[in-house]
Amino acid sequence: MSVDVEKFGSRDPRTGEIVGTHPVHGAAEVRAAVTRAVEAAGWWGGLGFAERRRRLTAWRRALVHRLDDLAGTVSAETGKPLDDARLELVLAIDHLDWATRNAQRVLGRRRVGPGLLMSNQAATLAYPPIGVVGVIGPWNYPVFTPMGSIAYALAAGNAVVFKPSELTPGVAVALADTLAEAVDGRPVLQVVTGLADTGAALCRAPGIGKIAFTGSTATGRRVMAACAENLVPVLIECGGKDAMIVDSDADLEAAADAAVWGGMANAGQTCVGVERVYVLEEVADEFTAKVVDKARGLRAGTDFGPMTMTSQAEVVRRHVDDALARGGRAVVGGPESVGESLVEPVVVLDVPEDSCAVTEETFGPLLVVNRVPDVDEAVRRANATAYGLGASVFSAARGEKIAAALRCGMVAINGVISFAGIPALPFGGVGDSGFGRIHGEDGLREFTRPQAVARRRFGAPVVVTSFRRTAWGMKALVGIVRLRHGR
Ligand code: NAD
Repeated sequence: MSVDVEKFGSRDPRTGEIVGTHPVHGAAEVRAAVTRAVEAAGWWGGLGFAERRRRLTAWRRALVHRLDDLAGTVSAETGKPLDDARLELVLAIDHLDWATRNAQRVLGRRRVGPGLLMSNQAATLAYPPIGVVGVIGPWNYPVFTPMGSIAYALAAGNAVVFKPSELTPGVAVALADTLAEAVDGRPVLQVVTGLADTGAALCRAPGIGKIAFTGSTATGRRVMAACAENLVPVLIECGGKDAMIVDSDADLEAAADAAVWGGMANAGQTCVGVERVYVLEEVADEFTAKVVDKARGLRAGTDFGPMTMTSQAEVVRRHVDDALARGGRAVVGGPESVGESLVEPVVVLDVPEDSCAVTEETFGPLLVVNRVPDVDEAVRRANATAYGLGASVFSAARGEKIAAALRCGMVAINGVISFAGIPALPFGGVGDSGFGRIHGEDGLREFTRPQAVARRRFGAPVVVTSFRRTAWGMKALVGIVRLRHGR
């Protein structure tokens, strides 16, 4: 195995100061990590649900004890306020608890009905682990997002090799360190650090059983192509252009509060953040006035941090410029709000639907508010995107009906992003937002391979799957099917 020579530094985007130095793991180091993980997976998978639960509970406690320390690292690496980092840890810990407590119920072997034709069989179904899961994560929620895969994959009995974003490697290493004691130092969760090549090497490493990727749609395509070479299955969690619909009977105060939080929190760098609002004509003025009032009170650098990746400010600038050039009206901020890394809140009204501010993921504190004549038009516009991650709806009477018409993976009614905090609900998107699910029962099953077992309990009265089968037997079988399914 070669020795690492290259290193890279992670920086605090607020100060530019280097907060950690990490190795650039090459293909050889990544392959070695996966080889170690294959062995660890054998041990971890063999422990069974109860023992894994005991150990993951110890990890959960260790995470709670180190919460402030871990939040400090998240805050330093992303630039987000400490309380936002704490909130993401709190949610991740709650998910870990749910995955730990529910793994056996969801994945353990259970009986299923054999059906009339096979009534001489006992049928059972179990969800054993895949083996080694590679998790490739983003920087915007460097604990909450990858833990949606890591916690569920571990609870299901897999070992994990985690490639965090190059912007947030420190907290990933700290997460793995906190688990080490609970697993007797075995490499059940390893971290490989580096840039794109490290992630690509993980996709191609022999022994990898599945890749769970979270990041941009463009990278998701590359990850999927690399995994296709060895038929490695993938879970793809990509970006979004989430819409909020505000109905005429909505609680406008709550809707405005949610739009501003959903659009501006974490400087808009939230995959399920609110990027577009469609508000019904008759309440548009009142709603907009409330949004303006709330957004004007926010300050970048205080209420939310800088752009974690400074190049993102350019994307925000391009979207603001395009929205205004095409006739949009800035009611909070404008082009001058976009600094080099600090971006102040911008709210633009009446932006044409083909502006890049409406069609592309902005990932910054820009909120587009467009008025619509009715709910059908709001739904049509919300759905007119290649993405389909989350959405929110504010309506007193029609929330469920509107939600059902939306083409996306998750909807918050009279709230925003609330689905992400409910561990029992699966999280994921459609279209360019990806496929597969983290969280909930689906999120546990995602890291398993279903195994079906049929056990003959007694000889079948009519044998049809043998060369001994008789014409009479087949006639009887067809007769049964005619009676049962033909009417
Ligand atoms: P990114 O695509 O630039 O990087 C994501 C990860 O992929 C990083 O660890 C990166 O090093 C790695 N990577 C880059 N090239 C690779 C390659 N060729 N092969 C393998 N790995 C490679 O995304 P980002 O900028 O870190 O994150 C922001 C994006 O993530 C946004 O689009 C956001 O919407 C999305 N996101 C989605 C979710 C979700 O759950 N759907 C959650 C958070 C963020």
